[in-house]
Amino acid sequence: MRDHIPNDVKRAVLVEAGHRCAIPTCRATTTEIAHIVSWSESKDNSFENLVALCPNCHTRFDQKKDIDRPAIKMYKHNLGILNNRYGEFERRLFEVLAKSGERVFVLGVAGDLLVANAVKDGFFEDKHVEGMGFEVRGSNGFYKNFPMTFTYWVTDAGLEFIKRYATGADIA
Ligand SMILES: [Zn+2]
Repeated sequence: MRDHIPNDVKRAVLVEAGHRCAIPTCRATTTEIAHIVSWSESKDNSFENLVALCPNCHTRFDQKKDIDRPAIKMYKHNLGILNNRYGEFERRLFEVLAKSGERVFVLGVAGDLLVANAVKDGFFEDKHVEGMGFEVRGSNGFYKNFPMTFTYWVTDAGLEFIKRYATGADIA
């Protein structure tokens, strides 16, 4: 039966997409479980054949066919890579940048830690713009200026990555 997707499989599919639509430029919070190869064709309720989509994208995929199957497969493939390589904050940032097309953004305290993996991969660059900071002075002569803001540029590689992610091209 179509509805007989085991609960643990449903949960894994929702967790994979962060309980949001798997389409990077959508990411709506209302989700349905969609079959990549339709149930009537595949009778396949496995994790590999399922993806979280919002009702709107589900209709665009299943009925209107303006999102095709290879694209859906690639969105799912990319989710796996993103989940392994980047933190939640970085994944959200990719989505925001995919929508806005911004090349510069500013983060607050500990911003450098939040985007560490993307920086390591060469997608964002800290140009050490003078920002807000706070000074710590110890009686022993210790002095350090801790930055409170971090300004990042999206590199050309980052722009390309975000574009590939947003359009469902392979990001591996
Ligand atoms: Zn959607």
